[in-house]
Amino acid sequence: MKILVTGGAGFIGSHLCDHLAGLGHELVILDDLSTGALANIRHLLPSRAVRFVPGSILDPATVDECTRGVDLVFHLAAAVGVNNIVDHPLRSLRINLHGTENVVQAAVRHGARYAIASTSEVYGKNDADRLDENADRILGSPLKSRWSYAAAKGLDELIATENSRATGVPCVILRFFNVVGPRQTGQYGMVVPRFVAQALAGEPITVHGDGTQRRCFGSVHDVIPAMTALLDTPEAFGTAVNLGGQEETSILGLAERIRELTGSAAGIRLVPYQEAYGPGFEDMRRRMPDLTLAGRLIGYRPQYRLDDIIKTVIDDQAR
Ligand code: UDP
Repeated sequence: MKILVTGGAGFIGSHLCDHLAGLGHELVILDDLSTGALANIRHLLPSRAVRFVPGSILDPATVDECTRGVDLVFHLAAAVGVNNIVDHPLRSLRINLHGTENVVQAAVRHGARYAIASTSEVYGKNDADRLDENADRILGSPLKSRWSYAAAKGLDELIATENSRATGVPCVILRFFNVVGPRQTGQYGMVVPRFVAQALAGEPITVHGDGTQRRCFGSVHDVIPAMTALLDTPEAFGTAVNLGGQEETSILGLAERIRELTGSAAGIRLVPYQEAYGPGFEDMRRRMPDLTLAGRLIGYRPQYRLDDIIKTVIDDQAR
């Protein structure tokens, strides 16, 4: 097949491109290299089956040209990372709303099945035991730019499903829960690569708040095959599916685990949210996926435990 991957030079996107290229597919990679990096896909570029287009999803003509003759679209290009969203709220909104609309409209125009990346952020402050795909969203005030990411991604899901319903072109929504792995950078806030970098450098590990907030980290290596399987599963069309891991940890517990696994003598520094993200920041206390639907649809069972996931990041950064 010929497949377009937007954001294909990013963390998840580049792993997906590796997977798809390995299966013998022809690839178009559209990426503006804003948070992605050429280094993530350089090894793929010599292949005649791979075309890299350094462009923006905000440019409808580029998106349309990239989508022509394509069978599948994986739309992963987005403004990501809490730091990035808080520092550049308007730019992030434009990319996540207008960019997605451009990609989805091109996909339906060319009759290409499409998957779009969403996020556990859409659940907002709902800290239920396990968040299933129909769980309520609890968002803070739209006056707080922290919530703009959750708001935009919620609308992205509607743009995807309503265009699909109106045209009959199938789509799937992938709701990622804190996906982690090699090539992820801590530069935009993501906690695991950031803690690993701090531990390896012997610098204090910066735990925000009191560190009792909880997350459940998933491996990119578990998630990638699930992405392609879902776009091949008619029962998944028109719906959202949670993808991630199953082992919950507090962020303080994560810092301690990373310190141990790196053998680092780094200290742990508690940083008030205000200092980390500016005044009025609200964090999510807890975020646990219910993975029942992915299990039922494609037999999804995450294989990587938290320690394995951390080790893949340590190996990547220690190289
Ligand atoms: N976090 C932290 N120190 C950091 C970066 C993040 O304690 O240097 C915390 C952050 O406040 C949040 C958790 O780690 O509670 C996960 O943050 P991340 O940005 O990786 O993902 P998300 O907030 O989207 O779950």
